[in-house]
Amino acid sequence: MDFEHETPETEIAFPEELQPEEVQAEIRRTRHRKELRLYRLLIVLGVLAIFYVFWRAGERPSLEELQSYGYGDPTTVTMLSTIALIASLFTGIGGIVIFLISLLFQYYAYYGGQLAYSIRVSEKNFPEIYHKAQEYTRLLGLKKMPEIYVRQMNGQVNAYTSWVPGKTFIQLNAEIVDLAYMENKDFDTVFFVMAHEFGHVHLHHVQLAYTLWPMLAMFFPAVGQLFYLGLQRAREYSADRVAQALTAGKAELETMMMLSAGRHAYKHVDAEDYVERINENNRALERFARWCINFGSTHPIHPYRVRAILDPEKRSGRLL
Ligand SMILES: [Zn+2]
Repeated sequence: MDFEHETPETEIAFPEELQPEEVQAEIRRTRHRKELRLYRLLIVLGVLAIFYVFWRAGERPSLEELQSYGYGDPTTVTMLSTIALIASLFTGIGGIVIFLISLLFQYYAYYGGQLAYSIRVSEKNFPEIYHKAQEYTRLLGLKKMPEIYVRQMNGQVNAYTSWVPGKTFIQLNAEIVDLAYMENKDFDTVFFVMAHEFGHVHLHHVQLAYTLWPMLAMFFPAVGQLFYLGLQRAREYSADRVAQALTAGKAELETMMMLSAGRHAYKHVDAEDYVERINENNRALERFARWCINFGSTHPIHPYRVRAILDPEKRSGRLL
């Protein structure tokens, strides 16, 4: 099937007509071409980090030194401190086992948050979302439907995906789900956001086996972090492509407007004007300022992401 960039609302390419083979082939074709290369590089760095830890095993790094690893991300600081400390106390497999347990504990803390504070999407709660999730599960050929949770997050318009052994789960912030149930009755944008999260599930971005190596690579403060951020941005582009394949591009631009303007004003944004402005040839200093923001971000900045989404050939988005 041909995925047209702007699908007229009333004809062709309704998601119901999509076939799993076509959707999955489209995803393979449009996945960010640097994603797997960066991932392999981070595996190499991760392996080197393990060697480094064992090489330093007898030296017992100071607390300050431990905290200097993986700066900027408190979760990473905790995890890397844990592995460095433990591996410095035990030479051998024991340290790694304890590290993995502490990592699992953190994954379960995220999941526990869902069990403690969220509403699980089911046939009775948010049935439209539930049925759409079933459809995405079928189209992506997932063995099991991710658990979907709705949780109010005090105004944060966001969603995320995570994992615990045996299951993946998606949190849709209530602030996103509101789009479908408040004044705009906009299910399509909610579905696009959810499809993006399904992209992370489908491409295994959240499983321990995938995230472990990049995290270990953060032992190399500048280099590890640089490549890890690049990988994270590549993953976001790939997840956007999955969302486009699953929804035939419906609400792709509206979703980006919503992420910028918020869940009420986005319906009043002139997207054409936005696109014209991001394509303006800014002065060098302005381009550089924008480049810097992107350089330090886990997600590509919106202009880069919008340009990638609107690219009719669906080439890989800009990492730098
Ligand atoms: Zn994402």
